[in-house]
Amino acid sequence: MQVPFLDLNRSSREARTEIDEAIKRVLDTGEFILGKQVGEFEKELAVYCRVKHAIGVASGSDALFLSLKALDIGQGDEVITTPFTFFATAGAISRTGAKPVFVDICEDYNINPEKIEQAITEKTKAIIPVHLYGLACKMDEIMEIARKHNIAVVEDAAQAFGTEYKGKKVCSIGDTGCVSFFPTKNLGGAGDGGAVLTNNDELAEKIRILRVHGSKPKYFHKIIGINSRLDALQAAVLRAKFPFLDKWNKQRNEAAEFYNSHLRNTEGISCPAHAEGRTYHIYTIRTKNRESRDALKEYLAKAGIGTGIYYPLPMHLQECYLKFGYKQGDFPETERASEEVLSIPLFPSITKEEQEYVCSKISEFKE
Ligand SMILES: *Cc1c(COP(=O)(O)O)cnc(C)c1O
Repeated sequence: MQVPFLDLNRSSREARTEIDEAIKRVLDTGEFILGKQVGEFEKELAVYCRVKHAIGVASGSDALFLSLKALDIGQGDEVITTPFTFFATAGAISRTGAKPVFVDICEDYNINPEKIEQAITEKTKAIIPVHLYGLACKMDEIMEIARKHNIAVVEDAAQAFGTEYKGKKVCSIGDTGCVSFFPTKNLGGAGDGGAVLTNNDELAEKIRILRVHGSKPKYFHKIIGINSRLDALQAAVLRAKFPFLDKWNKQRNEAAEFYNSHLRNTEGISCPAHAEGRTYHIYTIRTKNRESRDALKEYLAKAGIGTGIYYPLPMHLQECYLKFGYKQGDFPETERASEEVLSIPLFPSITKEEQEYVCSKISEFKE
């Protein structure tokens, strides 16, 4: 048996007729950038996330970057985030000219709110909590710290579209929320795409201007923006898939529950933290140490099972950030996680047989 780490074609096929028709409609209109498809998609996004504004942009990375730009963050400023994330989070901070300041994670792999305050300086302008693998960060604590120090919160919900925190969609809690429609995300397009969600009228207006080179009206520039527009073909594909999202997310969660119940008592393995409202984007188990993680990965590969490591090298140890003087040992929880995590196959239409096979191989594994 072969179990791929990811096979999103299976679920995408369910929406194939709708996708084909949507693409044809866009080709017929010839309106390829922004326009009606993007406008309608933005309305649907805002309704789904229960926020006032949704702004379609070119990627999740740009959603983060434009949020920070709209908050006037740049050279000389600091933005706090987790070192245990995809590079886009830290990269967006650096692209504004600001400095990423890292804070270690908790057991659940998300930023530890108890360690945020000691990282705040006069230069701190924002916090970017990342809802990693689909688990919401401790937003109450984070929002309280941010309000107390008068700093902004930009949620990185690229891996958590659909996840709720205390009855609210993540993306709707901070000053802005950023999502990605990269093909592997919970709602994935046929290319790059992203969106910013916000209840703040001023930020929404500014992000709309920043995504078209800072122009309003066209050819008149009070501020400098970039080209970061969602295109109509992506919006049309995403609109065709959107009605399936909740079903697909439910299937992800059912598959995760299957793993939780079958792997809970497996020697040497621990299962991810569960929380009400969570959508499992990635299912990540934890091993005892790097050696057993790497050996298990190899064992599963030989058995035809795909796995992934998110992420093997924390941000503070990336070569491009060595200039900030971080070193091994600065963030022990993060460093340990990067050595011990292993993500196993999880996608909406994974079968019980495939999951049983994955579980049996993990149980059989002996170091
Ligand atoms: C995917 C991802 C992003 C970036 O999204 P793109 O659309 O690929 O630019 C940002 N942050 C996290 C945590 C992600 O997983």
